[in-house]
Amino acid sequence: MAWYTNASTLTVSDGTGDWWKNVYSPSDGVPVSGIYRCVGCGKEVTCNDPDRFPPQNHHQHSSQQGAIRWKLSVRTNTKGD
Ligand SMILES: [Zn+2]
Repeated sequence: MAWYTNASTLTVSDGTGDWWKNVYSPSDGVPVSGIYRCVGCGKEVTCNDPDRFPPQNHHQHSSQQGAIRWKLSVRTNTKGD
């Protein structure tokens, strides 16, 4: 999981955006900029809209971990609002 300190500025979201609920596959388009966590292994990446998620060969999984799938963990406020 991502780390933060008491000096970090984070705000709890209501979580209603689809980007909080969906999981994304390698090379899918990134819906919103932020920190994404792999559902299978916990590895995290920072990805920016409108880039794409890392390709399938980004990292390896055991058969128990299944396919690489990215889920939003922290959305970044790239607009500064
Ligand atoms: Zn993984």
